[in-house]
Amino acid sequence: MVHFVGAGPGAPDLITLRGKNLLEQADVVIYAGSLVNPALLEYVKEGCAVYNSASMTLPEVLSVMEQAERDGKDTVRLHTGDPSVYGAIREQMDGLDERGIPFDCVPGVSSFCGAAAALHAEYTLPGVSQTVILTRLEGRTPVPERERMAALAAHGASMAVFLSAGMTEELSKELIEGGYPPETPAAIVYKATWPDERTVRTTVEGLSGAAKEAGIQKTALILVGGFLGSDYERSRLYDPKFSHEFRQGTAE
Ligand code: SAH
Repeated sequence: MVHFVGAGPGAPDLITLRGKNLLEQADVVIYAGSLVNPALLEYVKEGCAVYNSASMTLPEVLSVMEQAERDGKDTVRLHTGDPSVYGAIREQMDGLDERGIPFDCVPGVSSFCGAAAALHAEYTLPGVSQTVILTRLEGRTPVPERERMAALAAHGASMAVFLSAGMTEELSKELIEGGYPPETPAAIVYKATWPDERTVRTTVEGLSGAAKEAGIQKTALILVGGFLGSDYERSRLYDPKFSHEFRQGTAE
C-alpha cells in the first residue's frame, strides 16, 4: 500500500503522529527532496529504501511504487507541507488507481500555516478579511486567466502566495493593479519552521526591495493583506455580551 504523507513545513516535529508512525514502518520512502527537511528521514527504520523524487519523473516514481507493491512492501510518499497544495499528487493517485494499487492520504501542516505561526498572525480577522486566498504567480506552470493575480487582488482578502518569491516585482505590480493600496502590509517568510527561518515585514509596494535586501529568492511565501496590520475588530465568539450555543452573554 502507498501512503501520501504531509511532512509539514520543515520542523521535523511538525509532521502528524500518523505520518510519523507510517514513516517509521515504511519499507520504501520517496520524499520530495527539494523541500522536505532531510531530518525527517531519521524516523525511517533500518533497511528502508529511500528515494529522492527531486531527480525522478512521474513514471519513475510510479514504477518504484509498483515494484514495492509487488514485493508486498509499504511505501510512504512524503510531500512537503500538505500534499494537497501544489503537491502534484493527483497524477500519482490516478496512476495508482490505473494500476490497482491501494493508497491513502495523510494531511500535513501547510507552509502557509507555518508562516502565519512565524508571524504570530491570524488570516481571518473580523472587520479585515474572512477569506484566505492560496495562489501563485504564473511561472513555467500556467495559471488560468480568470485567476490572474490582479483579479484575485480585487477581493482585498488575506493572501498566501506560493512559488513566487523570485518574482516579487511582478507580484507587487499586479497586486497594486488589482486594488491593494501600495501601503498594504505584506511579509516574506523564508523557510517557515526550519532552523534558518526568516521573516521580513514590508508592504505590497516594498516587496521587491525587501526580497532583494534579504537575498530571498525561493523557499518563501509572500503573505499579503490587512491581517498583517494592527486594526481589526474583536471576535463575537469571545465577546462577553454575545450569546451563543455554549454561553449566555451578559446584558449591556
Ligand atoms: N505542499 C506545500 C507547498 C509546495 S509548493 C505546502 O503545503 O506548503 C512549494 C512552495 O511552498 C515554495 O515555493 C514556497 O512558496 C512554499 N513553501 C514550502 N515550504 C515552505 C516553508 N517552510 N516556508 C516558506 N514557504 C514554503
